Order: sequence, then C-alpha cells, then structure tokens
Amino acid sequence: MMMFGPENLRQNVLLRDYVTFKIGGPAELFYEATTSEGLVAAVAYAKARGLPCFVMGGGSNLVVSDAGIDGLVIHNASRDYSLVDQQAHQITISAGYDLGELVKMAYGNSLTGVESLTGIPGSVGGAIYGNAGAYGRSIADILIDAEVLMPDGQILQVDNAFFKFDYRTSRLKQDNIIVLKARFQLEPGIREEIHAKMADIMTQRHSKHPDRSIGCAGSFFKNLPPLPGENRRRAAGAVLEQVGAKKMSVGGASVYQKHANFIINQGKATAADVKKLAQLLKAKVMNDFGIELSEEVLYIGR
Ligand SMILES: Cc1cc2nc3c(=O)[nH]c(=O)nc-3n(C[C@H](O)[C@H](O)[C@H](O)COP(=O)(O)OP(=O)(O)OC[C@H]3O[C@@H](n4cnc5c(N)ncnc54)[C@H](O)[C@@H]3O)c2cc1C
Repeated sequence: MMMFGPENLRQNVLLRDYVTFKIGGPAELFYEATTSEGLVAAVAYAKARGLPCFVMGGGSNLVVSDAGIDGLVIHNASRDYSLVDQQAHQITISAGYDLGELVKMAYGNSLTGVESLTGIPGSVGGAIYGNAGAYGRSIADILIDAEVLMPDGQILQVDNAFFKFDYRTSRLKQDNIIVLKARFQLEPGIREEIHAKMADIMTQRHSKHPDRSIGCAGSFFKNLPPLPGENRRRAAGAVLEQVGAKKMSVGGASVYQKHANFIINQGKATAADVKKLAQLLKAKVMNDFGIELSEEVLYIGR
C-alpha cells in the first residue's frame, strides 16, 4: 500500500486524462491517493506549504481550464475500506470508490436502494459533494453518516444532517470538507429485481447520453425550480431545446443532438470553447425566456 511522500508527487500532469470531458491543462503538482491516509497526508502537505489544493474524484463534473491549475491536485482513488453488514443492510466504503462499484456491491449482496443511481459516473465522494441523483433518488436518501476531513485537519464522524443536502448540492460546496468514508443504509431486496431495474436504467441512459468515448460532464446546467403549483423541476434541457441549442457550437464544443443540456467535446474542444458556448446558451435563454441558467458543472483552474 503506497503511503504519501513528496517523492510521489508528479509535476505538470495533464488533467484531461483524468476528467470525463477530456479537456484541461496541467496540474502543477498531482498526487494519486489510493488510501484515506495518503489523501489526508497530501492535504496536510499542501496546507503546510501554503499550496492551493483541490481534491477530485472521477472528474465527471469538471471543466478544467486550458491553462491548468496551480498547486496540488489530489486524485482520490482510495479504495482501502469496504464493509458489507448483511445484518444491518449497510455498506461502508472509501470515498474514492466509483459510485458504480457501490451499486454493484449492493446488487451483489441483494441489497436494494441505490440502483436508481446506476450509470452515474464518478466517485462516492463526488456524489456526496453534489448530492448526485437520478430517477427520483439521490445519494442523500441512503447516506447514514461519513468520516470527513475538516479544514482544520480534524477527522470527524458526521451524520447525514451535517451535509445540508438539497437538490444537487450539499454544504461541501461552501466549506472545504473532504469525505473519506461513507456508510449507506440499504434494504434487503430480490437480486433479479435489482438487476432488472439496473438494466432498464442503463438502457434509458444509453438512449439519451453520449457514449463514454465522447467527452462531456453530464448535464451542464442545473434543472430549474418547479413552476408555481407544480412540484417537478423543469428540465433545463427542454428550455435549451426551445432556443435552438442543438444547432449551436463553438470550436470543438457542441450541444449534444440527443440532449440539449449536454455539451460535448467533439475531439479537439478547449475549455475556452466550452465556456464560450455555455455563455452563448445562457444569453439565449435569458434573452428568449428571461431565465437565468446556472452551471451544474464546476469550472476549475487558472
Ligand atoms: C455521462 C454523464 C452522466 C451524468 N449523469 C448524472 C446524473 O444522472 N445525476 C447526477 O447527479 N450527476 C450526473 N453526472 C455528473 C457527475 O457524474 C456527478 O456530479 C458525480 O457525482 C461527480 O463525481 P466525481 O467523483 O466525478 O466528482 P469530480 O468531478 O471529480 O468533482 C466534483 C466536485 O466534487 C468534489 N469532490 C470529489 N470527491 C470529493 C470528496 N471525497 N470529498 C469532498 N468533495 C469531493 C470535488 O472537489 C469537486 O468540487 C453525469 C456525468 C456524466 C459525464
């Protein structure tokens, strides 16, 4: 098991190789954390030297700038802890696991409750940060508690309420808190039924999302609050479709033909292309509907 040491830091690592958009310049320093201890030590190292520090998971919600990012980027690939408690129907795992691995672990143990999140890319930690969800469920619905690294270096055990979850958000977006480990409450289920639901969701996702070989970061803008008297959020994609988004592109970035809320990298897109296209889309929606779209993706870097 590799522990953290400054000799493990790499310089000028291209982040485009670590993010689903396949866009982005170099991290000044880069560390691949395979354990929670390594992650905590790397954060402490950056803090002691006054270096900016950014922890990424699967890189599936990021637009990294072309000029790259100052300081230390830590790729959280920690998978040093996993425990399935069959009696309590709970799974506890390191935050660096893929969300998909959690889904498979639950299925493998005939536990239900997380299969709605099938196919959402990224890590468990990233999913908690943005309260990832789909098909009416989000990670907040099953998270019991977590081990977190606080900005002052303390490691705390915190419960679900600590995160102040809301639609695609949590307090992690304000406070610089890193999730190390998380425990989820599931229910006993029937293996074949869980599998059928996962397969059904994957079919639906394949029909409207680009293939993984195409760079993108999922829904680019947040869905809109419900209209008065309604309780469902309005899809940003529907509004974008009405302003002709699917015909729009800038350089190598264009709007995906099957989903107007996805910006895709046609191969040679830059972060500048993506940002420009996003600005044009926002301006068009503001102009035509007086609606202000806000990004669900996160822009990072210089
Ligand atoms: C094809 C596609 C489909 C998608 N579909 C959905 C969907 O249906 N629903 C949905 O909600 N999202 C969806 N997304 C968006 C994305 O998958 C989620 O936002 C995902 O949860 C991000 O996790 P990540 O590990 O990739 O985070 P990253 O992109 O690596 O990082 C995002 C943020 O999370 C923070 N973060 C990462 N790990 C931790 C940690 N351990 N502790 C604290 N903060 C952390 C980072 O600092 C950063 O601020 C989709 C994306 C793609 C590409």
